[in-house]
Amino acid sequence: MNDLQYIDIPAPELGQLVQVAENVYWTRMPVPFPPKHINVYLLEDDDGWFVVDTGMNLPQARLLWQKMFSEYFEDKPIKGVIATHMHMDHCGLANFITNHWRVRLWMTQGEYFSARSSDGATSDNSWQLEQHYARAGMPEGFHHKVKQGFAPMEKLREPLPLSYERLSDQKPLVIHNRQWQVIIGHGHSPEHASLYCRDLNLLISGDQVLPRISPNISVTGENPNDDPMTDYLESLQPFLSLPEKTLTLPAHGDPFHALHFRVQALLADHDENLQKVMTACKQPQSAQQIIPQVFRRELSPIDYYLALGETLALINRCWRLGQLHRYLSDRGVYLYVQNQA
Ligand SMILES: [Zn+2]
Repeated sequence: MNDLQYIDIPAPELGQLVQVAENVYWTRMPVPFPPKHINVYLLEDDDGWFVVDTGMNLPQARLLWQKMFSEYFEDKPIKGVIATHMHMDHCGLANFITNHWRVRLWMTQGEYFSARSSDGATSDNSWQLEQHYARAGMPEGFHHKVKQGFAPMEKLREPLPLSYERLSDQKPLVIHNRQWQVIIGHGHSPEHASLYCRDLNLLISGDQVLPRISPNISVTGENPNDDPMTDYLESLQPFLSLPEKTLTLPAHGDPFHALHFRVQALLADHDENLQKVMTACKQPQSAQQIIPQVFRRELSPIDYYLALGETLALINRCWRLGQLHRYLSDRGVYLYVQNQA
């Protein structure tokens, strides 16, 4: 297959349920910035429904859920919430929905505790983060700007419930007598869960495989020497072992059939970006100098922040592989140059 082959079903309106497979339904919740929506999937069990991802903690999304509760779930209730990962568009309303129905949240351990650790975090011991940005070549005060930029976003995910059920690749979920295998991925978030049902030949891919965009793979100040790009590229491999015609239900964009084609395209895009980094580093360069050589379009402040994280992810992969040499300049900035050895 050499195109994505989207399904014929038009995307649902916000808060409207449409069926995409037997016992599998699709709706959308609003997101106030591109890609403007998140897909939410509902899995029908014998005695209730599982929600997969929730949308952000926005007043409009709460109203949509309340409308859906009475429109669709009065006879057969919601019996659990499954969150693919910790990002606010995926579990922003997990607390709201689990409280409303008094049901449990399913999440991997890595995602649940990563999210919990940032709930109400107030520590301002930030010299490490300031140093991270300085070493990337960012101007003074960048750390402060990032903090200010993210402050209003913190409310877009409600603190998670105090108790959860652990999702693991060792233990498939059984819903309506069908097994849903958990496929763990890394790189975009700590322990991302995709759900695969062989009986339905269907994959709920979360953010791991998206049809039009690539999920952000970032090195952040919390773990500046990490190599999430390698983690992500390795995490794509299991999807190539699934049947080629698997119907993929992504978290953003429309469901599509050509899973292998899309995974190969993601691998090729990252490979191209890794090449751009290597070309840029014929001469010593800082991360800040490399950004425009990889991301050539104009970047909004939030896109610039994400581009910095992803540029560092590309750099760290090359550095860890020994392709780039890294050293600290007199100004305290890391410079990267192709390793001649
Ligand atoms: Zn995400």
